[in-house]
Amino acid sequence: MPEDKSFHMTPDEFRKLGHQAIDWIADYQRNIESYPVLSQAAPGQIRAALPVDPPAHSESWAKILEDLDRIILPGITHWQSPNFFAYFPSNNSGPSILGDLISSGLGVQGMLWATSPACTELETHVLDWLVTMLDLPRKFLSTSEGGGVIQDTASSASLCAILAAREQTTQFQANQQGCNGKLVAYTSSQAHSSIEKNVKIAGIGADNLRLIDVDANFAMRPEALKKQIEHDLANGRIPFFVCATVGTTCSNALDPVAEIGRICCQHDLWLHVDAAMSGTAALCPEFRYIHDGIAAADSYTFNPHKWMFTNFDCNCFYVADRSALIRTLSVLPEYLRNQATESGAVLDYRDWQIPLGRRFRSLKLWFVVRHYGIEGLQYHIRRHVELAKRFAQWVANDKRFELAAPVPLNLVCFRHKGGDEANQKIMDRLNRSGDLYLTHTRLNDRMTLRLCVGQTHTQARHVERAIERICEEAARI
Ligand SMILES: *Cc1c(COP(=O)(O)O)cnc(C)c1O
Repeated sequence: MPEDKSFHMTPDEFRKLGHQAIDWIADYQRNIESYPVLSQAAPGQIRAALPVDPPAHSESWAKILEDLDRIILPGITHWQSPNFFAYFPSNNSGPSILGDLISSGLGVQGMLWATSPACTELETHVLDWLVTMLDLPRKFLSTSEGGGVIQDTASSASLCAILAAREQTTQFQANQQGCNGKLVAYTSSQAHSSIEKNVKIAGIGADNLRLIDVDANFAMRPEALKKQIEHDLANGRIPFFVCATVGTTCSNALDPVAEIGRICCQHDLWLHVDAAMSGTAALCPEFRYIHDGIAAADSYTFNPHKWMFTNFDCNCFYVADRSALIRTLSVLPEYLRNQATESGAVLDYRDWQIPLGRRFRSLKLWFVVRHYGIEGLQYHIRRHVELAKRFAQWVANDKRFELAAPVPLNLVCFRHKGGDEANQKIMDRLNRSGDLYLTHTRLNDRMTLRLCVGQTHTQARHVERAIERICEEAARI
């Protein structure tokens, strides 16, 4: 029973139990390689272990932690394992976890500048730092006409971009009257599924999203984009938005942003660049070519919560003209009116996103950038790319396997030459073994394995072991 009978944790209890919780996380980090990477739980297994009824009375912390180990851990897929090579990384780090914890402790609601000035100003400042760190166009700085904001996900960032583009094109009439069905959006056939979801949400309609053809490297073909835009214009449609991807989810393909940008300028279309995972690579000067042509972008997004050691959720979204975004998303009810807002001297980030409320997410990003410094971040990005290239080199040299796409950064798409069934078998056996976890995609309608290097603690020995295990399974088919 809590000491003060209020049922709350006292600060002293919190201190004691908090230390235990940190110990739990530290032990988890130390032992992480001992768990099967992919959870081996069967559907319903976790719920079956939980009591049917909620507790009527307060339970002990010891019991709660015990259940965490006994019930929850077996149902965890270990995204923080150095042997996690699936999907894309969702990496974290000590400074990020601590930043998130302190953010929870402060429990700030940062919807307006006035509801916690530091929450807004630190966010603005760190996002300006990142413009410099990634060498993004200066128009994305808050000191120019644009600026950056932290969103929960790249999906939300792209939705905001589509909405602002829709309003700019319709002179802010779509917000008022709804869409007229004439607006057309463009992206490549390899773009992330969030773009399709977003055109549905934004009232554009999935039928009005053109999935432009790609070249042999899975990058958008600009001449096909140009042709489609001209075709739509000739049919009385209103092209308004193009999303180029820097590092597609399937194969890490890099759309030719410069050429796409020229077409957008010609037709006065909003260019959004989705660099969700790969944008982080621009921390290193030698990888900045991935952003060639980005000066033409109206908006840009990347996810520190994928490949920059900042735990989910933390997406950075930049616009060149913040007034278009703010005008699109701003609604001012009486209860949010305040002097700082009226003065025009502050940013209110609620006007830059879909929800009203927002967490203090810049704290963890600030901790990460300060803990690692630019040098530390560059070091790890370079290591990951080097390890992916080393893996690709092995694929290229092993007669049983082939590369399925170029490897510009940290993702290797490859396949066994024995066909879809062989690849499926190899993948299933690897994942069931728990030794490592990788996932697949389809490229040119063939089953393709993906190995993505980006987990915080992945080192050469983990990639070497992956090669060993893949070879073992290949020998069995
Ligand atoms: C992962 C990914 C997304 C989605 O990211 P969320 O932050 O989960 O919404 C969007 N685009 C690309 C290219 C991605 O790789």
